Amino acid sequence: MAIDQHGDAKLQGVSIRSLPKVSLHDHLDGALRPQTILELADEIGHEVPAAAADELADWFEQQSDSGSLVEYLKTFDLTIAVMQTREGLRRVAKEFVEDLAADGVIYGEVRWAPEQHLAGGLSLEEAVEAVQAGIEEGEDAVESRGDDIRVGQLITAMRHTDRSREIAELAVAYRGRGAVGFDIAGPEDGFPPSNHRAAFDYLASEFFPVTVHAGEAAGLDSIRSALIDGRALRLGHGVRIAEDLDVVSQKGEETFVTFGDLAHWVRDREIPLELSPSSNLQTGAIARWGTTLEDHPFDLLYQLGFSVTVNVDNRTMSRTSLTRELALLAETFDYSLDDLEAFQLNAAAGAFLSVEEREELIELIGEGFDR
Ligand SMILES: [Zn+2]
Repeated sequence: MAIDQHGDAKLQGVSIRSLPKVSLHDHLDGALRPQTILELADEIGHEVPAAAADELADWFEQQSDSGSLVEYLKTFDLTIAVMQTREGLRRVAKEFVEDLAADGVIYGEVRWAPEQHLAGGLSLEEAVEAVQAGIEEGEDAVESRGDDIRVGQLITAMRHTDRSREIAELAVAYRGRGAVGFDIAGPEDGFPPSNHRAAFDYLASEFFPVTVHAGEAAGLDSIRSALIDGRALRLGHGVRIAEDLDVVSQKGEETFVTFGDLAHWVRDREIPLELSPSSNLQTGAIARWGTTLEDHPFDLLYQLGFSVTVNVDNRTMSRTSLTRELALLAETFDYSLDDLEAFQLNAAAGAFLSVEEREELIELIGEGFDR
């Protein structure tokens, strides 16, 4: 299945981009337009490793494909550098929403860490409000074009710093004013969710929804801690839950899979896995299974009944979109429109929204796929 020059692909004669989609794991600082980076960097005199937008897009791709975490992280130094002012945050958030809508997304959750955007003198609150202003402008712009999208903020704390309790309070303070959930991000290995017990205890006492990056750069202990210490309702990637499955296939015979207790819990409680195929390949999250999309345990998890969702993680770094991720999966695992619909329904069911709002999304997805 070829991705055309407009970034779309057809499955069973249907444009994947035109289908209603839900994006749950999408980083604000990983989703900047290269042209915007050039313009914002020019305004603040920040050095950029390319002079033109397409050259910069190539640079992001090379850095992300380099296999070096250090080179990969340099890309975030650049994007975060141009997001230190009210105007920078507002513009990036507005374009984030417009780009999602152009990709056929009807509901999205954008995650970002306010504590990384204070170098220009903004307070945590000012940063959240700047992003919210941009989101609302983006939603209005989409509406004026006759489309509809809603985007909520996942306020994120960095797991290697010690501000998580403060950031949790920030998230709760903005409930109903843009914030829909909380996450921790950054280096997973060596920084377990249990380090942030105080934040998670507080969030639980406030009944505030939590997703946790877990099962990406670390394994089952990290997932266990996300569920027990973090009370995570979803797992950020969570792909390494597959380490708790014992798959035995005999030649010409059926495949037998044995579940560990943790895998049972995640599947049977329908805890959504925010899987991000391209990113999982680039960061080595699926290294124990292989190096190509075919090796990704996505299909195994799907076939076994896990609540799998499809995500972009960092669109700019992976030079991708939700349409592209779905097209790659459909091509690799021979999925039909029904499969793609199942992934969107899983995402809608896992969205940090009220049950009425989730039912509304589920209805819209059903209508869109039926058409
Ligand atoms: Zn992520």
